[in-house]
Amino acid sequence: MAFDYDLFVIGAGSGGTRAARMSAALGARVAIAEELHLGGTCVNVGCIPKKLFVYGSHFAEDFEDGAAYGWTTSGETFDWPTLRDNKTREIERLNGVYEGLLEGPGAEIIRDHASLVDAHAVTVGNETVTAENILIATGSRAIVPPFPGDDLVITSDEAFYLDAFPERVVIIGGGYIAVEFAGIFRGLGADTTLAYRGPLFLRGFDGGVREFVAAELSEKNVTLRFDTTVESVTRAADGLIVRTHAGDVLEADVVLCATGRAPNTAGLNLSAAGVDLDSSGGVRVDDRYRTTAPHIRAIGDVIGGLQLTPVAIAEGMCIAYNLFGGEDREVDYEEIPTAVFCQPNIGTVGPTEEDARRRFPALTVFESTFRPLKHTLTGRAERTMMKLLVDGDTDRVVAAHMVGPDAGEIIQGLSVAIKAGATKADFDRTIGIHPTAAEEFVTMREARA
Ligand code: NDP
Repeated sequence: MAFDYDLFVIGAGSGGTRAARMSAALGARVAIAEELHLGGTCVNVGCIPKKLFVYGSHFAEDFEDGAAYGWTTSGETFDWPTLRDNKTREIERLNGVYEGLLEGPGAEIIRDHASLVDAHAVTVGNETVTAENILIATGSRAIVPPFPGDDLVITSDEAFYLDAFPERVVIIGGGYIAVEFAGIFRGLGADTTLAYRGPLFLRGFDGGVREFVAAELSEKNVTLRFDTTVESVTRAADGLIVRTHAGDVLEADVVLCATGRAPNTAGLNLSAAGVDLDSSGGVRVDDRYRTTAPHIRAIGDVIGGLQLTPVAIAEGMCIAYNLFGGEDREVDYEEIPTAVFCQPNIGTVGPTEEDARRRFPALTVFESTFRPLKHTLTGRAERTMMKLLVDGDTDRVVAAHMVGPDAGEIIQGLSVAIKAGATKADFDRTIGIHPTAAEEFVTMREARA
């Protein structure tokens, strides 16, 4: 049977775009459908605008710190529409870049909603087209748990486009988005409260890192309310009223719910094509991203797992090379580094100390906390934390954790060494770059008791 396309991709986010353009570059006839903006969550309402906001929010401290270095600044004011709209212009530019990335190698972009008909057919707009292979890369969406007044809260999607900058913000949640936006709103001047349901936020991260970040955010006047469940949000004459299960009342102009993201599976007609979901609502796939329907694959946030752009991109590469490059690639999910752009940043690769103790009985921990050189003049209380976990049986460095400026940049470099199996002896014989914070990772000699 002759198909219209060799590959039809549904969703032009990080994973879908990569699979489409690499497949087209390998000679496949490719179409990609996107009903919203090219680039998906990462480009439009995720990583990129978030990082721009993080940069924007740090200027408040930079202006203050400048005084100790002899700079006189006065009358600094922050104009939200300038940051918001400059960010939006950059996102629109990136939408165009994505268009070029797809069209360059010849992928056809279809700006419409697509849904499955069967294993080889897709309805897009009013048309039905056929493809030898179909890839579902529809990503995820922010979820808000049901509670009275849940319609009054926003998610990160809306946070990027607020009409007015809020004076008071309550953030519900304790994951990546909650702590990143806590730093953004606080840095830009909002009175910011983070309400998390458990005893300590950032579940899944190293215990020491979580404690350290909690102390640093408190130091920056983010109000942390742990063991706090939001019961309701109501509208008041002057903003919103948040009521907690303990009977506390918090006032806010904006309530941001950052309570996780769910796979985008609705409206795809998955069951008609025989595509099953797993118990967490993601598309069920095998280790080559094959769904339960022949010829239909799925990657990225829609399959659950790690909701990270570089992971979706790696999966997209895998799809292209395996389908059209004659290869049999697998994604290596071990030692995936990640950063949280709270302030200061978290960078991490490898297991937490708690996990590593279970996996490596002879674990040795090297840890250092210090005041960054920059703040010896400014007097700012911000501190940096670094931790290396070493398997005493093999001397391999199994993890590195950091909280401090540019932690993501530093851990990205270290993750290559850790991936390559570097030992503590390798770290020890590496000469540091002085004066940097990162040199601490190659000069830690005393194991923690
Ligand atoms: P996360 O899964 O990171 O965190 C969700 C938070 O919400 C957790 O603290 C969770 O608590 C809490 N929560 C979940 N359900 C409820 C509920 N019903 N009531 C109250 N609290 C609840 O999700 P995010 O939304 O922060 O981010 C989504 C994903 O996007 C991240 O997991 C990450 O993969 C990705 N991301 C990556 C970034 C990066 O790479 N820098 C930046 C932003 C997002 P508990 O821990 O108790 O379950």
